[in-house]
Amino acid sequence: PKCKNCRRFGIKLCSKPPGKCAFERRKTPPGQHCGQRRRRASEYGQQLKEKQKARAIYGVLERQFRNYYRKANNMQGVTGDRLLELLESRLDNIVYRLGFAISRPHARQIVNHGHIKVNGKKVSIPSYMVKAEDSIEVKEKSKEIANITGALTSKEREVPEYIQMDEKNKKAKLIRIPKFSDIPYPTIMEPNLVIEYYSR
Ligand code: ZN
Repeated sequence: PKCKNCRRFGIKLCSKPPGKCAFERRKTPPGQHCGQRRRRASEYGQQLKEKQKARAIYGVLERQFRNYYRKANNMQGVTGDRLLELLESRLDNIVYRLGFAISRPHARQIVNHGHIKVNGKKVSIPSYMVKAEDSIEVKEKSKEIANITGALTSKEREVPEYIQMDEKNKKAKLIRIPKFSDIPYPTIMEPNLVIEYYSR
């Protein structure tokens, strides 16, 4: 069914234009009727759901997601926070945050098609890790591509403060690696449950 994940996690995750997503029309999870009491999920169920939610938001496959977990686990500090910070540093996500794309799937496509340059060099790998001080721009020849311009002018989202944006030149700089608390999620994130899921 269309927009299954959008409805399941209560966030618009698809590439549909604003107003066309099923989540925006119907605010109940799939397979559930309005007014029906929801059974409380088990501890495992909650951990699984949080993991699936984070994976769906960033559009990362299970194997790759687990690698992010392993990487976060080897970093200092709160593992769950590090996990989301790693995911947030992906090039496709940064392109989405910049407003070059209407959704992360759209952002991934823009990167895959070679429209993006990092520090002046073409990078077509969506999982590329953007570092602090890196510059991200739309390739000169791609600057007039309608859906990039359209996404920018739709102003659906605000550019977060950890990104410096030069909209006129379609060029941006990642000022710093975002902290979990800075990331503008449209839903409550519980990365600690994701970590619990993997450390069972
Ligand atoms: Zn949707």
